[in-house]
Amino acid sequence: MSHIIHRSLRRVPPVAVRAAGLTVTDNAGRTYLDASGGAAVSSLGHGHPEVLAAMHAQIDRTAYAHTAFFTCEAAEHLAARLASDAPGDLDHVYLVSGGSEAMETALKLARQYWLERGQPQRQRFIARRQSYHGNTLGALAVGGNEWRRRPFAPLLIDVDRVSPCYEYRERAPDQSTDDYTAALLRELEQQILTSGPQNLIAFVAETVVGATAGAVPPTPGYFRGVRRLCDQYGLLLILDEVMCGMGRCGTLYAFEQEGVLPDLVVLGKGLGAGYQPIGAVLARRHIVDALRDGSGAFQHGHTYMGHPVAAAAALAVQKVIQRDGLLGAVTTRGASLRRMLREAFGQHPHVGDIRGRGLLIGLELVAERDNKTPFDPALALHAAIKEEAMARGLMVYPMGGTIDGRHGDHVLLAPPFIVTEAE
Ligand code: PLP
Repeated sequence: MSHIIHRSLRRVPPVAVRAAGLTVTDNAGRTYLDASGGAAVSSLGHGHPEVLAAMHAQIDRTAYAHTAFFTCEAAEHLAARLASDAPGDLDHVYLVSGGSEAMETALKLARQYWLERGQPQRQRFIARRQSYHGNTLGALAVGGNEWRRRPFAPLLIDVDRVSPCYEYRERAPDQSTDDYTAALLRELEQQILTSGPQNLIAFVAETVVGATAGAVPPTPGYFRGVRRLCDQYGLLLILDEVMCGMGRCGTLYAFEQEGVLPDLVVLGKGLGAGYQPIGAVLARRHIVDALRDGSGAFQHGHTYMGHPVAAAAALAVQKVIQRDGLLGAVTTRGASLRRMLREAFGQHPHVGDIRGRGLLIGLELVAERDNKTPFDPALALHAAIKEEAMARGLMVYPMGGTIDGRHGDHVLLAPPFIVTEAE
């Protein structure tokens, strides 16, 4: 019997005892190919010697120092590196322990920004349906995954919603991509006007949707239009790159491919690549200046923020990615993997769409290809696929369809950036 409250309370998962490169081995001696990087986390694979060495060295020097008393070199170097690698004036960093914490941080930082600017009436966010921003209450509130939200709905702040940018499902057959994009932007503008621009803190979205709709990239020009509306009506733009950032889509930040600069960027997963729990928020200068010139401090904080070993691990991960030219590998391998998937499943009666960007790749499953009918969610097809893949020694990340039946089950592939063609 296990004393852990596992994800399922009916079944204890296999015990991972060793992990190296693209494989994880369990205590029964079975080896699994990690084709999903866990959940798009392990961008360098497992057991990378340079990351481990950096962590050991940091543990030997200072394993922990509370940020109310000290800063540490690892966190300073990581922040400096993230700032210098980020475009524009995204040059301040808040380091936390994961994606949800980072999203909470961004929501609070955005709210405090408006308080400092003398606009306390700004209390609302606009976010999209079919989005996921984390499981803590603030992050869950802005997220649009109904299945995850429903039990806790009475505890969540009210958020205004617009449609996701989800061309496969939501573009009408007689609509061009440009017309579809324009319609989404009109909807957002209408929602801004309905909410009242003066009441809004920010628009929140994943640049490339990850865990809710399965690797859905935006249509061309969508985020440029979003940025234009945010500027026109004076709200902040928060982009959640917990899953799609830190190289996963072939550029360090996925938004670089959209030609926009968000005010706040939320990071996690690939930042520490699984070697340590770490997340971050990147903030543009005007956000931090407003707080510095106002109250002088961000009213927030966590015991483990700016953790030295987590920062050392993340710094080592980012150095290896840059030195080994892995962003280029992500683009090349991602294109080959999508091509191979199309060859294998392109005509499969139950694979409706194969999509993604870089090494964030989704397969959307359908009961009927022609009319894109999802499978009945009661079948829990995604769970069955995961089980079957595990039985065959393969890790893929499955997602169920929405409870409103708007889209079906998905399989997400997000292998480490070091994946070879053969693997
Ligand atoms: N935002 C996105 C886009 C995510 O995919 C996730 C996790 O899957 C989160 C936020 C939450 O991150 P974490 O699970 O590290 O709290």
